[in-house]
Amino acid sequence: MLHRLRHYIKSATFWDLIKGLSVTGRYFFKRKITIQFPEEKTPVSPRFRGIHALRRYPNGEERCIACKLCEAVCPALAITIEAEPREDDGSRRTTLYDIDLFKCVYCGFCEEACPVDAIVLTDMSDYHMEQRGEQILTKEKLLAIGDKYEATIAKERGEEKIYR
Ligand code: SF4
Ligand code: SF4
Repeated sequence: MLHRLRHYIKSATFWDLIKGLSVTGRYFFKRKITIQFPEEKTPVSPRFRGIHALRRYPNGEERCIACKLCEAVCPALAITIEAEPREDDGSRRTTLYDIDLFKCVYCGFCEEACPVDAIVLTDMSDYHMEQRGEQILTKEKLLAIGDKYEATIAKERGEEKIYR
């Protein structure tokens, strides 16, 4: 009975409408914040998990040693690796390193498992695909992303070092 009475009073006084308009009114007079994306961006945590990258050492050598730990740990089976010994020094290197972005759940397990900090998730979230098959990040694409953003990746790794 009390519940029904409360319902009638609320309906008769337009309580829900007034409540909604009060929120609109509060924000109407506040300072407006507009971000001119993509030229401007909001701050991103160094722990944000965006698109992947493969890193190199400062001398240009690939970090990845084809141990396949990232492939084994990936819960989405998004990573495919093929490897063989290199001709010059016999060290193992990947001949194929693919990540399927449609399968990836951005858990970050691959970068946690990597013993040499080769595969990392960058803070980049604004990327898109236009053609079928572009969701596969090949080794060449991953290395290119790594080369382009190495300075940012290294800075973020440095900031997070004490937590790893
Ligand atoms: S972030 Fe997670 S799901 Fe994506 S490739 Fe790495 S381990 Fe797999
Ligand atoms: S990226 Fe890291 S974990 Fe994956 S195969 Fe290369 S070295 Fe191993």
